[in-house]
Amino acid sequence: MMAKTNNVLCSSCGKRVATYYRLTSGEKLCRLCLFNSVAKQVRRTSHYYKMFRKNEKVIFAIRGDDIALSLESFFVLNNAMKDFDLEYKILCPNNLIDCRIVEEEARKHVKNGLEIYEVNYPVDIISKSIVYMVKYIDAYAAKIALENHVEYVVSLLFRDEISMILMLGLLLISKTVFGEGMPIKYVENVKIVRPFYNVLSHDILYLAYSSQEILKMDNSTNSVKVNVDGYIKKAYSILTRSPELMYSSSKSIEMLQSFIISKPSRCHLCGSFSDENVCEYCKVFAHIIRG
Ligand SMILES: [Zn+2]
Ligand SMILES: [Zn+2]
Repeated sequence: MMAKTNNVLCSSCGKRVATYYRLTSGEKLCRLCLFNSVAKQVRRTSHYYKMFRKNEKVIFAIRGDDIALSLESFFVLNNAMKDFDLEYKILCPNNLIDCRIVEEEARKHVKNGLEIYEVNYPVDIISKSIVYMVKYIDAYAAKIALENHVEYVVSLLFRDEISMILMLGLLLISKTVFGEGMPIKYVENVKIVRPFYNVLSHDILYLAYSSQEILKMDNSTNSVKVNVDGYIKKAYSILTRSPELMYSSSKSIEMLQSFIISKPSRCHLCGSFSDENVCEYCKVFAHIIRG
């Protein structure tokens, strides 16, 4: 991904030296042009799916597995949606990160309305698998949103991860795993949105780990290692070697999805599709959410 580009100029601005080789397009980009391009993808996705309305309150849930990835994503989102004047509440796991540092850094980017909700993520649950992690954080964020009259939750999931989850859902014939491949979910009147639906995690990881701000913060974090099973590892290595496959497989699975799940009922906790009120994943941690 990060090939040496030997002083080749950025193919976008033509002024700065390119430092990043972008897998999906073959472009060689400088950090700033990569940032702007990713922000544009996020803006386009959120407009396309009508994810946000102006001046609304939004909970941005930090993931437990790679906090640098979460924070860089927050900066990208904030930049992409700046004309929407969203009021951000950051859900920050204080058992994994020093939330004061998150607040300090976020305040440099966000003018007003920023709040930090300090919470605790149960490491035993979010380390089980990416599906558990996503469902736990979404369910927990949705509960906090309901309690605080916040209408939106940003669920951080990237195109490469979504492709994997869709395939896993097919393989397991699991409606509720399959349902995590959607750009928007609902828990009552809370809208859980995925503005990074078309963004590759590699692009954000490069931005995160080439950022002075993030590197400074990363010393104070204690990310959780999430289990990845053998199937996922294989699927992932195939997908990242062929970005076309990643996009085309997702397209066909999405079509299939609308066939299979014509009249969806939803899990009351994570908001994904489920025949039962609480899906088989959320059952494992329902007692924590309902506390
Ligand atoms: Zn450039
Ligand atoms: Zn669920």
